Amino acid sequence: MNNYFVILAAGKSKRFHSKVAKQFYNYKNKEIIDHSIEKSLNSRLFKKVIIVTNKIKHFRKKKYSKFISLIKGGKERSDSSLKALKYIKKYKPKNVFIHDAARPDFSMKLLRNLISQLKNHKAVVPFLHSKDTIKYKVKNELFNLDRNMAFLTQTPQAFRFKDLYKLAVKEKKKITDEATLFINNNYKIKFIKGECQNSKITYINDTKISKTYFGIGFDIHKLVTNKKLYLGGINIPFHSGLKGHSDGDVILHAIIDAILGATKRKDIGTYFPNTKKFKNIRSPKMMKIIMNNLNKSNFYINNLDINLICEQPKVSKYRNKIIYSISKIMNLNKEQINLKGKTVEKLGLIGKEKAIACEAIISITKYD
Ligand code: ZN
Repeated sequence: MNNYFVILAAGKSKRFHSKVAKQFYNYKNKEIIDHSIEKSLNSRLFKKVIIVTNKIKHFRKKKYSKFISLIKGGKERSDSSLKALKYIKKYKPKNVFIHDAARPDFSMKLLRNLISQLKNHKAVVPFLHSKDTIKYKVKNELFNLDRNMAFLTQTPQAFRFKDLYKLAVKEKKKITDEATLFINNNYKIKFIKGECQNSKITYINDTKISKTYFGIGFDIHKLVTNKKLYLGGINIPFHSGLKGHSDGDVILHAIIDAILGATKRKDIGTYFPNTKKFKNIRSPKMMKIIMNNLNKSNFYINNLDINLICEQPKVSKYRNKIIYSISKIMNLNKEQINLKGKTVEKLGLIGKEKAIACEAIISITKYD
């Protein structure tokens, strides 16, 4: 395991307009650079993690400081990377990974893949083809670039140390990644599939991620004879039905309150008060109104979990039907919905089949 992981974090990040240096900006609850440090350490693939930075003081207080080495950065990216290579030379490394701190979203799987490819190759570089059409300009003429011939290279890039070192010390020009050294010297590179999520954070807007919210809902209705029982929008054969101003569908009511909770929109009573207008309203109709509002304000539902609390009817018997019905009413996939049955050991009103209760929790994401 004589592998070393170099993180380049000495850039000036001029396009990232923030008081905090880009590598220390908070992203997914951590400083951007911490994602790369922690992943490389947790992978247990590397003997040492070397950070090239001009803010050495900032790292001194970090909890993992004894596992990392800090080096002062150079003028250009290539100077910084050469400094790191010269520093680790004394350890006689077998392999070295070079990574930009501005890419916090690579996966551990990618690290393992790079290491295993290094067994047969001197340089392994992840890349993607562009999803957009690329135009380039020669003099005043615009051309379309063949997408399949354009390689968008990412980091981490993995190298046999000896080969990279040899090329890096003799390179005099500015280079923007280490793969360039191999290309300029006609060395072979093994290109492997990169990761879409592993994009580079350049502008402050690149750190804006969609926000996800949770909401919780609860409902209980009394069981009375001579009324139909509705659960999740469908009629379930039973000796009693749920009493209420509407059809008393505790499942749909709990879900509505969960949605309103996640989107900070008060509660079901605010939208459907006990007025004449809503007398005997069917709950799927209520749900449609709530779902329309939700869609209009750019929210989408991730998943929904429901506890139906009753002695009878047995949830296991109707689970698939109820889930199917909810998925139709709410326009969800069945896979997004879970329904659990919970009895109460014959205790209290629910145990004596005088009432049915339901609780629901929902996860909702806001998009632009
Ligand atoms: Zn209700």
